[in-house]
Amino acid sequence: MVRHLTTTADLTDGEIEAIFEEANGYLNGETNQKLRSRLVINIFFENSTRTRSSFEVASRRLGAEVVSLDVASSSESKGETMHDTAANLDAMGASAIVVRHKNAGAPKILSKYVKASVINGGDGAHAHPTQALLDLFTLRQALGDVRGKKIAIVGDIRNSRVANSNIKLLTRFGMEVILVAPPHFLPKRSNVRATWNIREVVDELSAIMSLRTQTERHERPIYASLSDYAVNFKITKELLGDRQIYVMHPGPVHRNIDLDDSVLSDPRSLVLRQVHNGVATRMAILSKFVLEY
Ligand code: ASP
Repeated sequence: MVRHLTTTADLTDGEIEAIFEEANGYLNGETNQKLRSRLVINIFFENSTRTRSSFEVASRRLGAEVVSLDVASSSESKGETMHDTAANLDAMGASAIVVRHKNAGAPKILSKYVKASVINGGDGAHAHPTQALLDLFTLRQALGDVRGKKIAIVGDIRNSRVANSNIKLLTRFGMEVILVAPPHFLPKRSNVRATWNIREVVDELSAIMSLRTQTERHERPIYASLSDYAVNFKITKELLGDRQIYVMHPGPVHRNIDLDDSVLSDPRSLVLRQVHNGVATRMAILSKFVLEY
């Protein structure tokens, strides 16, 4: 049976532990030939630099062939596009297809048309499972046991697939998530603790995950300027003080809006570690989904 990775719920706790164990063996740029003569296709209907290149590097380090297609936004209806795309990719004999799309649910639709394993590289505001997995991996590396530790997710949570996937995965692995955002950036329905004032909770935190304001998903401008938003939600050194709070961001960072420059260069920033760990985590994910199914 072919299996697909559309959300982190597609994996059991045991499977996630096995992925992390394998990823631990890839942290120093190791390569192998596990996916030799297999084809991985990245098909990105929405812009990406980090995720796309991360999957490319991961595929190559496993010896796979990799093709990346940037599909310009098209006027075709979603159904036609996905169907066409699926037929073409299948004809090329792909083992895995990594897909990014602005519509939630697109990877699931694609999975119905192809024989390859479909891996969700981010769909609308819905899910970004490989990002959440690399984030949990990075948090464990920094904090050791994450159970009972608290993380604030700060910013445009309502429109963020990264936040959505992380809220589910991090709470499942025992972390307490606190949402920090203005009311219009909070999810409409959620039973996760929330505040607009990060200073209220900062003393409790082991980590902060800052998010980019997803202006492309707003129907109309919410802030007159991003610097208005930054007044209350930018993470600064002054906010951190001398607390041992790790700072994360999935990228791309709006510098001096999401994170102050000085925070990005602080040893407590895990931002580049997330990128580094992303390749190792995606290698483990690709090898599982290609070889086991
Ligand atoms: N790179 C992340 C994503 O694809 C976060 C972002 O774009 O702000 O969702």
